[in-house]
Amino acid sequence: MTAPARRRTPAPTAPGDAHAAPGARIPGTASGADTPGGAPAAPAAPGGLAVDGLDVALDGTPVLSGVRLTVPGGSWLAVIGPNGAGKSTLLKAILGLVPYTGTVLVDGEPAHARTLRERARLIAYAPQTPSLPPDMTVFEYALLGRTPYLSYLGWESRADREIAAAVLDRLGLGPLARRRLGRLSGGERQRVVLARALTQQAPILLLDEPTTALDLGHQQQVLELVDRLRLADGLTVVTTLHDLSLAGQYADTVLLLSQGRSVASGPPAEVLTEASLAEHFGARVRVDAGPGGRPLVHLVRPEGDR
Ligand code: ADP
Ligand code: MG
Repeated sequence: MTAPARRRTPAPTAPGDAHAAPGARIPGTASGADTPGGAPAAPAAPGGLAVDGLDVALDGTPVLSGVRLTVPGGSWLAVIGPNGAGKSTLLKAILGLVPYTGTVLVDGEPAHARTLRERARLIAYAPQTPSLPPDMTVFEYALLGRTPYLSYLGWESRADREIAAAVLDRLGLGPLARRRLGRLSGGERQRVVLARALTQQAPILLLDEPTTALDLGHQQQVLELVDRLRLADGLTVVTTLHDLSLAGQYADTVLLLSQGRSVASGPPAEVLTEASLAEHFGARVRVDAGPGGRPLVHLVRPEGDR
């Protein structure tokens, strides 16, 4: 088994092309997730997602109930909500990693109608708490993102290795390429998990809390990179985000989950309001208009506690 695997998609030739998604995409025309109780979810745009009537029960406990959302191809949805609201479970259901009832359309087709390999070419996922084999190197792990494109002989081509190297460079991880995963800091691990997802070159990216372990500079680096890829290649992005200001700065649409239900969705300024955050997070916040009118959310100490 010495022959390199034949790629099934054209290989990018430069780092700037390293995330070219297959096929034409419709960039940045977010019209927003549907509001709860509104009209039925529209069919997904190319590369888009549509979820309707999604119910998930884990160990007999309802975790998601009647969740619906539409993410047009090329747009960015931020899913927010308090701990345990069901954000990670929502991503897992879209990926088919947990059993669900309801409709999940990926690029206009029911998710379950595709093979796992087909799905992996369409959707890349960076989990919140991945288990990383401690003896694997950063480069080997990033290269796992190419698995959906390998032949059944299973060898990566030079192009696969170039893609993995280019993604590591773009995340500032080039110098760590030979480092073993067991010897990384929390923030480095998080960027390596993102690198694997980007190496997959899928048109849809699901990122579960991609910035929680990162310092400010790396938060900005990662989200700016994802946004550049979205604008250049028309990627569809769904992130869960704890940092509500980041959600407000980057997302076209914010979906607020609470106790497994969608309680609000729409443009950031409509969802990230002081009243709504007080009600669903039990937090006292001040919301200011930031650049472009996008909301910035600040925690404020309750009166009398100062
Ligand atoms: P979030 O990502 O919003 O913090 P999760 O989707 O991880 O929330 O979890 C939603 C709820 O489902 C939580 O109450 C959690 O305890 C519960 N849950 C998650 N996994 C399981 C499981 N395997 N069995 C039972 N309950 C689970
Ligand atoms: Mg979670």
